[in-house]
Amino acid sequence: MNNSFILMELSIQVGWRLDAFTLIVAAALAALTMAASMGLLYLASARQACLVDWTVAAALFALSNGLGAIGLHQQAGPILFIACVNALHIGGHFGMLAGVRRHLHLAPGWRWGVLLMAAVLAAHGLMFARGAPLYRLALFTPFVGALNLGAAWLLWRRSEREACAAHTPLIVLQVLSALQQAARMAIMLAYDGRPPGFLGGDFFRTSGALAMLVYMSLATMCCALIVSHQQTLALRRASLTDVLTGWLNRRALHDVATRDFRRCRRNGSAMFFITFDIDHFKPINDRYGHGVGDAAICHVTALSARVLRGYDALFRIGGEEFAVLVVGEHAGNVCAMAERLREAVVATPLTVEGKPVAMTVSVGVAALDAHDQKWEDILSRADVALYHAKQNGRNRVSVHGSDVIGRGQAARLQAVGA
Ligand code: GH3
Ligand code: MG
Ligand code: MG
Repeated sequence: MNNSFILMELSIQVGWRLDAFTLIVAAALAALTMAASMGLLYLASARQACLVDWTVAAALFALSNGLGAIGLHQQAGPILFIACVNALHIGGHFGMLAGVRRHLHLAPGWRWGVLLMAAVLAAHGLMFARGAPLYRLALFTPFVGALNLGAAWLLWRRSEREACAAHTPLIVLQVLSALQQAARMAIMLAYDGRPPGFLGGDFFRTSGALAMLVYMSLATMCCALIVSHQQTLALRRASLTDVLTGWLNRRALHDVATRDFRRCRRNGSAMFFITFDIDHFKPINDRYGHGVGDAAICHVTALSARVLRGYDALFRIGGEEFAVLVVGEHAGNVCAMAERLREAVVATPLTVEGKPVAMTVSVGVAALDAHDQKWEDILSRADVALYHAKQNGRNRVSVHGSDVIGRGQAARLQAVGA
């Protein structure tokens, strides 16, 4: 047997195996697998609601393909049968969009999906749609394409930067799906509804079933990737966030400060730490209880965040101790910021049972020094300055290094160290 004969034999076998019926059954099984995967992921993981939409979408695809297989097996189905297949198919594509919307914190809009499915069912009553598959295809393809591209566009426009990589496969799949539908319709139109055979079967059914099989297999992976990446992000955020205040914690400080320290050393940029600690906090806890103590910590954090607007890097580094990391700013602005922070806490007492509870903070400021080997060196100097502020009567700002205060030109601030 020579090589070309073997290849021909093989292609006949492949052609036989890839007939429309086999493909559509395989697509139905792939859709069932997707429904099971999405459903199980929902039960086993953080119960992300988009998984419910994608489970429903996959179930609709499975039903559509299952009915399609039955119709193919019986050679021809009544128009109502075909209408159901198409309505379920468009419902599946709507479900994919609904899941994307829910993932992006938008309303899934299933009401519109049900309306669309009903409209597709009704459209099969139109005379021209009853006739040739070409007309039905021409009628529904724009809607399917719009659903595919709508999901891709939303993912593209609304993705957060860190989620882009996980969203890209589904964006590409949705665009390819729309292109595939358009190409299939163009070929049907070009051949006036009777294009040449495809993989040993008729073009319309075999290409549609093959596209569906590929789409279902890839969509399962893309959706699972999005969900698992979202969970990873949520875990990462949780590990960097302080539970009480919602601001960054000490672990985040380590990550951000290490990165910024390297960059500032490289570029010669300025880097500062402002550290502050609530004065006489223990008596607040003792007098009003731990709950009010917690509220006091949140109160001071909210005030600081307001004063430091534009500076995201506010960290809770201890019980009622905080650090602000400022990069590329003038010493004068940093010292003024520290002073504004102190004033804001004095000016806005916490209210407990309708009565004001006065609070103050002591603040320390330090800048990056040419001899610093690590960011902790700056932080410990800021702590020395903070300790100095405490020692000198609290409710004040101390700046480490007379050169910093010189650059800061803040006469009211106290300088610590050489
Ligand atoms: P100083 O002016 O010297 O700072 O005096 P202080 O009383 O504020 O002393 P210190 O800063 O050492 O107080 C820390 C206290 O903060 C001890 C601890 O009971 C309390 N604390 C730490 N974490 C929390 C928390 O999450 N919630 C509450 N309510 N209290 C906390
Ligand atoms: Mg304190
Ligand atoms: Mg303290």
